[in-house]
Amino acid sequence: MRDKLVEKFIKGEEKRQAEGLELIPSENYVSQDVLTANGSVFTNKYSEGYPGRRYYGGQDFTDQVERLAIERACKLFNCKFANVQPHAGAPANIATYFALMEPGDTIMGMDLSHGGHLTHGHPVTYISKIFRFIRYKMKNVDTGEIDYDEMLEVAKREKPKVIMAGFSAYTRELDYAKFSAIAKEVGAIVIMDAAHIAGLIAGKAAKNPFDYGFDIILTTTHKTLRGPRGGLILTRDNEEIAKKIDKAVFPGFQGGPLMNTIAAKAVAFGEALTPAFKIYAAQIIKNARAMAEVFKRNEIRLLCGGTDNHCVLADVYSSLGVTGKEAQTVLDEVGITLNMNMIADDPRKPMDPSGIRFGTPAITTRGFKEKECARVAELMILTLKNKDNKKIKEAVHKKIKQLAKKFPIPKSFV
Ligand SMILES: *Cc1c(COP(=O)(O)O)cnc(C)c1O
Repeated sequence: MRDKLVEKFIKGEEKRQAEGLELIPSENYVSQDVLTANGSVFTNKYSEGYPGRRYYGGQDFTDQVERLAIERACKLFNCKFANVQPHAGAPANIATYFALMEPGDTIMGMDLSHGGHLTHGHPVTYISKIFRFIRYKMKNVDTGEIDYDEMLEVAKREKPKVIMAGFSAYTRELDYAKFSAIAKEVGAIVIMDAAHIAGLIAGKAAKNPFDYGFDIILTTTHKTLRGPRGGLILTRDNEEIAKKIDKAVFPGFQGGPLMNTIAAKAVAFGEALTPAFKIYAAQIIKNARAMAEVFKRNEIRLLCGGTDNHCVLADVYSSLGVTGKEAQTVLDEVGITLNMNMIADDPRKPMDPSGIRFGTPAITTRGFKEKECARVAELMILTLKNKDNKKIKEAVHKKIKQLAKKFPIPKSFV
């Protein structure tokens, strides 16, 4: 690279990723093929519109690559329509809201402190000023069971146009059939925001909401799905809805699509269609369960009592007297990256909550199995219990570096 300054930052980030363990559940490592497509000459091209209906000329290859991405996405999630143009998860969600509703309409989503995402109507977002958000919650935070009875009651009273399933910090599988039944009863469209678990669904390690009557699945492409940073909107079979979504994404909400990213999405979806991806998806869950078991054995309180997906939520404050922020900082010191997280009904504040959230997608991509994951969990707990002991922290850091070295980030998965 001629720009030595930026090159230095890229190399630094490369080294950081290689030497540390990434436990942030929304992060992953993409293949060299995805990086190559993402860094390709498609970045030079304007392609406003959709394949076969563009506003500019020169679309021979952009049309082909976008059609391929759509075809692969539909195969992967077993649906009829896909829009691969959203720049990221949040734009996918917002465009979908605009496609289906008028300002002032009501959306029902997971309570934010119980696992819902910012785009599900957090008061700091602009969409919370445009649409009216109402909530459902867990009935029991120690099992993760959703209060479906209350959900039905509130839905009947408030008549939401959209019911959203999906989360960024929740560790159980949702009862999709119940969501669909409630949506049907009140005449709402039912949507899964699968940003976190799309890879598990695509890899058939988790249930597919489309099999339970869901109308739409929204997702990012860069979390468990292991593609470039981006968004994706899938519609099961309703052409009218799919057309509204296409219009809402472009020209309603975005301008030109990022064709380099769409090419990289096509590559990632191709990888996700291979048998190796199914093995990866199943291993993610086995690994998360192995880590959860170690925490439980050490009597650390887990939200939802354990995990069915890629993620674990631990109440480190009530169990160990270490705050989420302290835990994040001290684990960073030993080469483990994760994030502090509010737990359900957290008595503490967002900038220093009671919990931590961690997950296994990235380390599973590196080749970690249950044994290594259990070891990492033990090292995490040892660190948290000895957060002021320099010697122990140095020893743990050394072990983490050794593990990272033993499992280099792979360049390809198929
Ligand atoms: C990550 C996430 C998003 C947003 O994705 P971005 O690509 O960061 O915009 C939306 N919904 C859920 C549930 C998420 O976890």
